[in-house]
Amino acid sequence: MTESTGDLFSVAGKVAVLTGAGGVLVGRMALELSRRGAEVVVVDRVVEAAHKVVSEIQASGGDAMAVIADVLDRSSLVDALGCVQETFGRLDILVNGAGGNRKEATTSPDLSFFDIPLDALRFVLDLNLLGTILPCQVFGRLMAEQKSGVIVNISSMNSFRPLTRIVGYSAAKAAINNFTQWLAVHMAQNYSPHIRVNAIAPGFFETNQNRYLLRDEATGQLTSRGAQIISHTPMGRFGQPEDLIGTLLWLVSPASEFVTGVVIPVDGGFSAYSGV
Ligand code: NAD
Repeated sequence: MTESTGDLFSVAGKVAVLTGAGGVLVGRMALELSRRGAEVVVVDRVVEAAHKVVSEIQASGGDAMAVIADVLDRSSLVDALGCVQETFGRLDILVNGAGGNRKEATTSPDLSFFDIPLDALRFVLDLNLLGTILPCQVFGRLMAEQKSGVIVNISSMNSFRPLTRIVGYSAAKAAINNFTQWLAVHMAQNYSPHIRVNAIAPGFFETNQNRYLLRDEATGQLTSRGAQIISHTPMGRFGQPEDLIGTLLWLVSPASEFVTGVVIPVDGGFSAYSGV
């Protein structure tokens, strides 16, 4: 354990790879890690998204490297790993943030559960679950060789109790929790107790992948589902990307040195509230 409490949450000099970092939530995490002195690698499938986040980090006085890779394509991840090894020679932090839902895998008045196409379900299950497992295989191998590293998976509050409509996404995120526990045990027992694997389960954050469920596209007003969520959130609001930062810093720093295999909800109390 770090002696000085001042260093307890330090990430200075750590090398961090974040998948899906071209997006809203993980992009904000990348910015914060860079601001705190980490070497940040922004991994995304979409070139413009990755470069936009790197530009934002640079504009705020930090630096980061954009690496284009698809979390479902092992060879692109292996290339990304090669890039990280060549540049930094090691890896300390992996955040598995690439994920999301798809309208075609969501029940609605126009789409019953019985008619959801298999390819839509497969897309969502693959992206969220395999898109977390595969980077753990590729980047986790380096951590196993180093005998150190921390992995943070991005689950969702719907992994504890499924939300209506989003059948594949709920199942995939529940599987991420199970995988997080599995990998935590596997890494600690087979490679090193200094490799930790945990997850964050965000509640409702308004971003590109879920806006269609939360707001009317034409008016910007809350949908009835959006209003229902707010009324079921004791803190009375959607989350902001900044709300995830404290938990992230705790999980990737020496502050959580004896913590592995846990899933932390960051949801304004949503999952604690019975509704009455
Ligand atoms: P986002 O859509 O803003 O970001 C997701 C990013 O992942 C995008 O930049 C996208 O290009 C990238 N991506 C998608 N498929 C990829 C692939 N195959 N390979 C590499 N990159 C890929 O979404 P967000 O809301 O910032 O979500 C980030 C994570 O948080 C996701 O795992 C999401 O499921 C989870 N989450 C979000 C919420 C929320 O309310 N927004 C709640 C709980 C969990």
